[in-house]
Amino acid sequence: MKIHEYIAKDIFKDEGISVPKSKLAVSPEEAKMVSSEIGKPVVIKSQILAGGRGKAGGIKFADNPDEAYTKANEILGSTLKDERVEMVLVEEKLNIISEYYLSIVLDRSVKKPLIMASMSGGIDIEDVAENKPEKIIKYYLNPLDEFLPYHGREIAIKMGVPNSMITKLGAVVCKLFNVFQKYDATIAEINPLVVTADGIIAADAKLEIDDDSLYRQKSLVDLQKVTKGEFAYVKLDGNIAVIGNGAGLTLSGMDMLKLYGGKPATFLDIGGGSSQENIVKALNIVISDPDVKTVFLNVLGGITRADDVARGVLDVIDASKHKVPIVIRLTGTNEEEGQRILKEAGVSFETSMEAAAKKAVELCKDII
Ligand code: GDP
Ligand code: MN
Repeated sequence: MKIHEYIAKDIFKDEGISVPKSKLAVSPEEAKMVSSEIGKPVVIKSQILAGGRGKAGGIKFADNPDEAYTKANEILGSTLKDERVEMVLVEEKLNIISEYYLSIVLDRSVKKPLIMASMSGGIDIEDVAENKPEKIIKYYLNPLDEFLPYHGREIAIKMGVPNSMITKLGAVVCKLFNVFQKYDATIAEINPLVVTADGIIAADAKLEIDDDSLYRQKSLVDLQKVTKGEFAYVKLDGNIAVIGNGAGLTLSGMDMLKLYGGKPATFLDIGGGSSQENIVKALNIVISDPDVKTVFLNVLGGITRADDVARGVLDVIDASKHKVPIVIRLTGTNEEEGQRILKEAGVSFETSMEAAAKKAVELCKDII
């Protein structure tokens, strides 16, 4: 399973690899806003699963917020390498001194992880591999060996990087190897890994997970799925996850929350015809996010049935190790049945959006 760049970058960052400042945008307006937040020239990057976006016109530069709007407008909704671009990553533009290449793949023929690295990284790496293969070094690791700092230094020395960078680069290799193992990856790649005046930064991030390991990478699978259009999901800066059935209702929920002083952590629209299974998926996505302290589930049943929602909520409460409180607003189709199910299980709920939003904000204050 391929992982989008913006999710891969979050993972790399968690492992201690430096990545540029960035934020996802789904509209030109949002891209403009992010660009002005970043406050310097940005790169607008199409979030599709295929590589080679640079050469295909999927990476654009913008010097100011207005230009970010124009460039995002050009990319969003276009088709690139057979994928429709629904999201762009708006990222601070780096002043690149040099572009390196670093990748870890599982070499199935010898059943070992293979690390490849080069000081000639960037969009022409395929040409380098074909015409100057000696510029890409290969390093096999015994699968049972722990990755030690000297492995990283050996790789950096073989690449030929300046002495002053050997330890730093070795540390990046080590961190990428940790990602590779932790996430059952078949590929973890940084191209380009850039050298700037501020240090070594991953300007791109590629991650593919072994399909046979997906059962133990569930939260990653869920995160990746939402970007495939199953739900409309946007991660935000706050700590209260807002889930709603329908984009309008989800947005109203967010507004109501803000009115009472709360900060949304997500916008997650489960769509109109949501089933019990969808509720479970949506709740699992948000409660596995460490930034989420409280969940505000805002349901006004139409095609979505309140009893399905109630059963989904109970499934999650029963199964969850995370003790994230879920505040529920539940009305609409089959509301008597839905509310009865919750009452019987001792789970409280509200019938008005205002009351639920207020409660979510209060609960969150208590937690922090
Ligand atoms: P890919 O073509 O899909 O692999 O997309 P990348 O994220 O690797 O971007 C392609 C190229 O755009 C890189 O090799 C860089 O040369 C350039 N690029 C990407 N981000 C930046 C940046 O922040 N600053 C500058 N100057 N160039 C960048
Ligand atoms: Mn790249």
